[in-house]
Amino acid sequence: MDLNAFERKVRHDGVRFVRFLYCDPGGIIRGKAVHVDKLVERMQGGIGLTVAMPAMNMLDQLQPVEGLGPVGEIRLVPDPGSYAPLPYAPSSAGMMADMVTLGRKPWDACARTFLQRMIGRAREAGVSIQAAFEPEWTLAVAREDGSFAPADRSLCFSTVGWETSVAVIDDIVAALEAQGMPVEQFYPELGHGQQELSIRHADALRAADNHVRYRDTVRAVARKHGFVASLAPKPFVDQAGNGCHIHLSAWDADGARNLMAAEGKPNELSDFGRRWIAGVLAHLPGLVALTAASCNSYRRLKPHMWSSAFTCWGFDNREAAVRIASGLWDEATPSLNMELKPSDNSNNPYLALGALIAAGLDGVEKGLDPGKPVTVDPGALGEGERTALGIRRLPESLAAALEALEHDAVLMGALGDLLGRTFLAVKRSEAKAFAAQDQAFELAQHFYKF
Ligand code: GLU
Ligand code: MG
Repeated sequence: MDLNAFERKVRHDGVRFVRFLYCDPGGIIRGKAVHVDKLVERMQGGIGLTVAMPAMNMLDQLQPVEGLGPVGEIRLVPDPGSYAPLPYAPSSAGMMADMVTLGRKPWDACARTFLQRMIGRAREAGVSIQAAFEPEWTLAVAREDGSFAPADRSLCFSTVGWETSVAVIDDIVAALEAQGMPVEQFYPELGHGQQELSIRHADALRAADNHVRYRDTVRAVARKHGFVASLAPKPFVDQAGNGCHIHLSAWDADGARNLMAAEGKPNELSDFGRRWIAGVLAHLPGLVALTAASCNSYRRLKPHMWSSAFTCWGFDNREAAVRIASGLWDEATPSLNMELKPSDNSNNPYLALGALIAAGLDGVEKGLDPGKPVTVDPGALGEGERTALGIRRLPESLAAALEALEHDAVLMGALGDLLGRTFLAVKRSEAKAFAAQDQAFELAQHFYKF
């Protein structure tokens, strides 16, 4: 790539600082910025970062992880294809960065590298992945005492909710579009102040990049309007939780045929599709540690909350952890996709999506069977009926999910030694820190970090 031409474009955009962004294993978006005068140099050589950073938890408490101490350094090397000026920040642009060792090798603790590795695994199996993150979040106002209240008391999909938020949503949409993210749908959701604003699917890496940018954009634009946008899974305990369901479809290598859809049978899964979701269900107890990755996540994953609480799948079943959404009229086959419901904005989207791919591929490789689709609310079945159907309750806490993850050889193997150890250490430290505090502390800490 012609870096001098790239620099000219950046100057032409009026950009002074370019942020090299990453999402750490704990799910926090961080970055370092370079002045445009030094951009070419830093694109070639990266920006230095201490090896300790991936071991930081969401309270900025550094965890003891072997190999991630005060001595040692890696480089943040940006992906120029992810460049976009940040419409909400003066003279600023962002690029998603990979973590690279001083020896110029992909670094094992880099979440974005992990996703690229899983995309590579899929490619070797002749599969290309399309994905979309479907975020819900809560528009709130800050009170003088530092606490928060929902911005409205609106009803689900209601005009009253629309009126409260349409001005800020309009600015958010403009900012997303300016960064190349096409918006698909918007509506006020069930909870007070809750919004759902979704963007179009993309190839897996770009989908995760987009979601990082989305989170930054929503928070920043809401703030300009005097609101606080909370992307926490459960910012208010008496209101609906904020999911960030992951939609995924697996295509052949050219992206021409949706492998999950049964040919000539609209809204039916192929054998490939059945095996894929069987893999997801088989690994779900450990997988949720990566997709619903904060202590606050487990306040959301309760029966009858439309967020899913059990390891089952179903067609258009909004209480099932894996929902197969009915396809679009006249486009049923290309639009068929799986939706993972136990996922929220407190995850690291690269880890969440990469692990979801690893789980699906495992089901395909092993020829797993997902069993029958569940046609009722699984929470309404008796314990015995669920057991007979092979339906398990999802882990009820982050600590329990981490336990399941540690014992899941496929997911731990996919993460690799360093990333696996780092994730467990960081998340266990969060589980411990929040267990020692009360609910108010947990809600306050999660409200505005994701
Ligand atoms: N708010 C629900 C959740 O926590 C999702 C509601 C829906 O979109 O079906 O996932
Ligand atoms: Mg929703």
